[in-house]
Amino acid sequence: MAKTPFVSKDQLVAIAKQFPTPFHLYDEAGIRRNMEAVRDAFAWNPGFKEYFAVKANPNPRLISILHEYGAGCDCSSETELMLAGAMGIAGHDIMFSSNDTPADDFRLAAKLGAIVNFDDISHIDFFERVAGPIPKTVSCRFNPGGLFQLANGIMDNPGDSKYGMTEEQLFEAFRMLVERGAENLGIHAFLASNTVTNDYYPALARILFDLAVRLQRETGAHVTFVNLSGGVGIPYRPEQEPNDIHVIGEGVRRAFEEVLVPAGMGDVSIFCEMGRFMMGPYGCLVTRTLHEKHIYKDYIGVDASAVDLIRPAMYGAYHHITVMGQENGPDKSSAPATSTYDITGNLCENNDKFAVDRALPRIDIDDLLVIHDTGAHGYSMGYNYNGRLRSAEVLLHEDGTCELIRRAETPADYFATLDVAPTGRQLLNNLKNNS
Ligand SMILES: *Cc1c(COP(=O)(O)O)cnc(C)c1O
Repeated sequence: MAKTPFVSKDQLVAIAKQFPTPFHLYDEAGIRRNMEAVRDAFAWNPGFKEYFAVKANPNPRLISILHEYGAGCDCSSETELMLAGAMGIAGHDIMFSSNDTPADDFRLAAKLGAIVNFDDISHIDFFERVAGPIPKTVSCRFNPGGLFQLANGIMDNPGDSKYGMTEEQLFEAFRMLVERGAENLGIHAFLASNTVTNDYYPALARILFDLAVRLQRETGAHVTFVNLSGGVGIPYRPEQEPNDIHVIGEGVRRAFEEVLVPAGMGDVSIFCEMGRFMMGPYGCLVTRTLHEKHIYKDYIGVDASAVDLIRPAMYGAYHHITVMGQENGPDKSSAPATSTYDITGNLCENNDKFAVDRALPRIDIDDLLVIHDTGAHGYSMGYNYNGRLRSAEVLLHEDGTCELIRRAETPADYFATLDVAPTGRQLLNNLKNNS
């Protein structure tokens, strides 16, 4: 099946003249059309709001595109809160879904007026102690334990996950929060990651809606929102069928009408915190072939490495690769695969491979490769091992022009944190003098 890059070879050659490889390239048109589809799929729910999971891609330029459509930010750390705050996104436009939360994080969440989503019952007292009174609008995260299953099999193992409260704790937490002044309560759960099925959100919604009805009846709390969180996946592999957000939205609507409406809770708002689904397919890592090496296997060495995209090294995750200029095979996505390569970066780590034993068209030195679906958990999971510096980020506008939205790291960025000790300061001085 086809998996076609959102740029042509000619376009990419021109872009790579303007911006040296490697870089993450983002597709503004794709981001906008998808955001519009999400908005339309849930338009039946007047309070619907997407809180973009900032951890998936913390680039303010990209977040601001989603914010144009009313999307807020789902933050999970102090710096993510700072980013949202600095963008002028505050109050109930921020969902603070953290865990193992430091005091400073809660303090800033309180200061920004964010909706705090408590991961644990003990965090309620902790929040009051470090950040002040319980806000009027708050949320609790639910963990049902056991295995989470859909008709087509086991999706994930909540019983083994560190997040959320047990059902018993959730009821107790709601009573505590109401007693301490909370007026608008919400529930949240994240039970499976990267689900490539239209059934996940509807199934999760039914679980949370049932729970919301019981919580409202038994604790007297006013449940005003249900947060389906993230977990809606994307087809990393070409043979996977993409999710249809309209089918997902309709599935959630059916559960809403069957469970919440009869309980007199038709005013509940649906929230979500999608990250991967909002950005994943609309980013790619553009990299150039530096070396070709033939030993016991055939290797293609590129100028990107796991510091730009760690998912393959970390989880063995599949990312489709297109050799630009070889898109004209029978399926239009690639020429016939005539070679088998490991595509490697330059880290001194043997797992620094974007692909292992991948059947691909023949690759030559200087060829441009597109590594697909890096828009979420790509740049954001980057790191600096081996003193390798993280790449730039470039936004491809709808009119075909490009904008640098984050420059590549420089050695000065890498050395900047050494400025605290005499040897570090000396080294920084020497670097300055030598350059
Ligand atoms: C990671 C995360 C998300 C986003 O998940 P995706 O799978 O990228 O949609 C949303 N909410 C919370 C609390 C998360 O930890």
